[in-house]
Amino acid sequence: MKCPNCEGTIIENNKWFECENHHYDKESKSNTGSCDFAVYREVAGKKLSSKTFQKLLGGEVIFVEGLKRKNGEEFDTKLKLDAEEHKIVFVKDSDDDDAEEF
Ligand SMILES: [Zn+2]
Repeated sequence: MKCPNCEGTIIENNKWFECENHHYDKESKSNTGSCDFAVYREVAGKKLSSKTFQKLLGGEVIFVEGLKRKNGEEFDTKLKLDAEEHKIVFVKDSDDDDAEEF
């Protein structure tokens, strides 16, 4: 997978899909790398697979089942990647272009 910002390689770990040029510095709690692309891979209690993330990266809207609300209730939703904010956002059924933050 390629970073949409700098063409670097996307590295995945337990929590993040992160550009190889993104370096989170624990002391300053900020990015000291040349690229700021890092996306938290868990959405409402569900960890996204790299296959899913690859689709999101390609601009696809994907349907995900079995997400959990704070009250434990399960729900299904559509997700897409907000390329500017580097966040995975919900997509409203009524209008696919109008993403809702969570
Ligand atoms: Zn990058």
